[in-house]
Amino acid sequence: MQVLVVEDEQSLARLLELELTHCGFAVDAVAEGRSALNRLREKRFDCLLLDVMLPDMSGLEVCRRVRQTSDIGVIMLTARGQVPDKVAGLDVGADDYLVKPVNMEELAARVRSVVRRRNGPLAGGRTLLARDVTLFRDQHRIEVAGQAMLLSPLEYQLLEHLLLNRDWVQSRNRLLEQIWGFDYAGETNIVDVTVSRLRRKLHDSNSQLAIETVRGVGYVVRST
Ligand code: CA
Repeated sequence: MQVLVVEDEQSLARLLELELTHCGFAVDAVAEGRSALNRLREKRFDCLLLDVMLPDMSGLEVCRRVRQTSDIGVIMLTARGQVPDKVAGLDVGADDYLVKPVNMEELAARVRSVVRRRNGPLAGGRTLLARDVTLFRDQHRIEVAGQAMLLSPLEYQLLEHLLLNRDWVQSRNRLLEQIWGFDYAGETNIVDVTVSRLRRKLHDSNSQLAIETVRGVGYVVRST
């Protein structure tokens, strides 16, 4: 499991790194928000341990930006007494928070728990975001810029699958297997038909989200 520690207090960063490494995690550490965002673009991490007070930008802002494209587990590190920060952290999509001074035994348990939750039945996150579309997986509900969008169960599953596999082109066969099942015996153009219906609904909702056709291959939703 890969953890990215974002903490500008060097001694604490070192301590967190040592403790997590000791518990079997692979750890990278950076001291600034921008470096964190760059590192997250270069490499895949399972969990982000994010200090609220960073020299270049707030940890809350880092979390908000991360959440635009990623469902990584995020734990905020907050100074004792910064209760509003805790609440704000959860508002911008953090999964949990730890209060400084960090209890090292609690640290590894929290990291494991966040990663486990992210890899559970709702792996990829409870909420999927792309452009102006939000998919609330536990409620089977979709909003475009805050307005509900109604989809059939198959359209919903297709959109969920494309959002979970953002930037990863999905072939028609793969979509057939994943959404209609291996034993589906109907027309294979059912995928294209369902994509068209979904596109029309997105268009009618004035959504900026596009389902791109990759000729001869299939479909993809891009995160940027
Ligand atoms: Ca700090």
